[in-house]
Amino acid sequence: LIIYYLISKFTKESNVWFHKLKNNYQEIQATYEQLMAAEEELRAQYDELNEKQAIIEESEERYKLALDGSNDAMWEIDLITNDFFSSDKFNDITGYDIKAMTNLKSIISLITDDDRKIALNDFSDHINGKTLYYRSSIRIKFNGGGEKWVLIRGKCLRNKKGVATKISGSVTDISGQKDSEEKINKLQYYDILTDTPNRRLFINTLKSEIIKAKDTKIKHAVLCIDLDNFKEINDTLGHDYGDELLKHVAILFKNSIREGDLVSRVGGDEFFILMRNIEDCSEITRLCERLLNLLNCEISIDDKYVYASASIGISVFPEDGHQTSILLQNVDTAMYNAKYNGKSKYCFFNKHMSEVVVRRVEIEKGLRHALANNELEVYYQPQIDIINNKIKGFEALLRWNSPELGRISPAEFIPVAEQSGLIISIGAWIIKTVCLQNNLWKSKGYLYDTIGINLSAIQLQNDKFEETLKNIINETKIDPKFVELEITESIFMKNFDNNIKLLTEIRALGINIALDDFGTGYSSLSYLKQLPINTLKMDKSFIDNIVIDEREKSIVDGIIQLAQMIGLDVIAEGAETKEQIKLLQKMGCNQIQGYYFSKPLPAGEIEEKFLKTNRIQPYN
Ligand code: C2E
Ligand code: CA
Ligand code: CA
Repeated sequence: LIIYYLISKFTKESNVWFHKLKNNYQEIQATYEQLMAAEEELRAQYDELNEKQAIIEESEERYKLALDGSNDAMWEIDLITNDFFSSDKFNDITGYDIKAMTNLKSIISLITDDDRKIALNDFSDHINGKTLYYRSSIRIKFNGGGEKWVLIRGKCLRNKKGVATKISGSVTDISGQKDSEEKINKLQYYDILTDTPNRRLFINTLKSEIIKAKDTKIKHAVLCIDLDNFKEINDTLGHDYGDELLKHVAILFKNSIREGDLVSRVGGDEFFILMRNIEDCSEITRLCERLLNLLNCEISIDDKYVYASASIGISVFPEDGHQTSILLQNVDTAMYNAKYNGKSKYCFFNKHMSEVVVRRVEIEKGLRHALANNELEVYYQPQIDIINNKIKGFEALLRWNSPELGRISPAEFIPVAEQSGLIISIGAWIIKTVCLQNNLWKSKGYLYDTIGINLSAIQLQNDKFEETLKNIINETKIDPKFVELEITESIFMKNFDNNIKLLTEIRALGINIALDDFGTGYSSLSYLKQLPINTLKMDKSFIDNIVIDEREKSIVDGIIQLAQMIGLDVIAEGAETKEQIKLLQKMGCNQIQGYYFSKPLPAGEIEEKFLKTNRIQPYN
């Protein structure tokens, strides 16, 4: 029983234990499971953390790389303490050590005096909430000398009340960009050669001065200065030399003007000067005289000496125009007027000059393209030998049919061609055209002696004239005996000795020479003998009145006698009536050129009417 008791007790107890144990085990199991779950969660969290850490590291790396690699410096200002922080790049951009830059004040001191106000205004506008971002393009003082353009951008953090507590952003070095901008600006508004404002900037400046001067008593003057002999200098000494001369002239001008005045090269050899706030016209004339004197001195460039001269036109605001365009138009007129009045002069605009000059300017503009555009044509007027009743020859006369201006008389456009120097190229073209025509007619066997070509003084003065003439003769293979050059008395007299020498050489080539317009100039019979000429052309003004005026008749008679005595042919120009011709024939004049026989005609008509038929209008 005891045993049984013991056994049953043991069994009971062990059952209790067993249950207890079992319970404990289940508890442990549950705890374990909980632990496992927690561990799993932790592991997941750990993995997640690790991942995040990697991402953060990566992004930090990237941020650092971006900071280092970017050309911008990052900065931050604590607006409560005014402390300043920035990235290393700040050193490179400013040339200063960032460690020394710890507060807002030291940063502000970096900004140039000129731009400080702009930067502070932009800054406070943003802090006060007027702008969404802070942005300033300004110059800073670079530690190492000079200035540097930077772009500063930023945005602030605000507290709940909207008060800015922090601002951060970037600084970009934009000096390269500003350099290019400046270069582009220079190209747009400056003349590179002379480093002066160009036409566009000059006009803009003049416009704004006019606006400012409205309703005041302020006067401004515009000067237009055109070099007289620039083209010749360019042609003879070369373009590089011409460029050097323009630079030299620009410096002379810049050194001569008053403070506040503006010199501008507006194209070619033309300069404008704006004289602001003129009180007295004598200020203008003083400057003009000074400029003309400076140019008229010997100018030496590269061991070569030149004399430059200029013509100056002046228009004054408001008298000569309230608008820029009118002032510029009038200053142009005044300049051309100065030029036509003999160059190396200055001339104030007045209303009466404009019509004449405007026309001349239009003619000059048109003439510049006339050759290239085939607008020029040579007409021919027959010269009749009234002794043998045959064609002696022709005079070549230039005609210009301008698309803009219509037909213009050579009496009007030749002087413009001379003044502008265009006569050199036009003159050479005429000689060549006439030689080719002459050749063609001669190859067809037509009978006449010569074709006369008019020469202008400017052509003869040109050093290359003889060479040009010889070249044309060689090129066209014309027989020089069919060519006659017409030179007026006044041209002859201008440079008597030189011309005698030159024309003697030309005559030696076999070319004939005629003295044109005899009677209008010096008409000195005494020097006739010395001239290397074959023919004397009596001017129309002599012939006009021979029928009615005994005195004129006897003068013409005398000229014919004398000319024949020294072996010259005499042509009477401008004979329009039968009576004139009969009288001239009686006096022994052997040749007539005039409307009675024919007006000047195009080559084709001359060929049909005269050369093919050899028919001459009867006059007896
Ligand atoms: P010029 O050399 O005295 O030419 C003669 C002018 O008198 C021509 O005028 C001719 O058409 C005109 N004429 C001829 N017979 C008569 C007539 O019976 N009655 C009238 N009323 N006129 C007559 P055009 O062609 O108008 O030339 C005028 C001037 O222009 C020329 O005077 C000459 O000085 C210049 N010229 C013309 N062609 C040339 C040229 O090719 N080169 C140069 N340098 N000058 C030229
Ligand atoms: Ca002539
Ligand atoms: Ca003549």
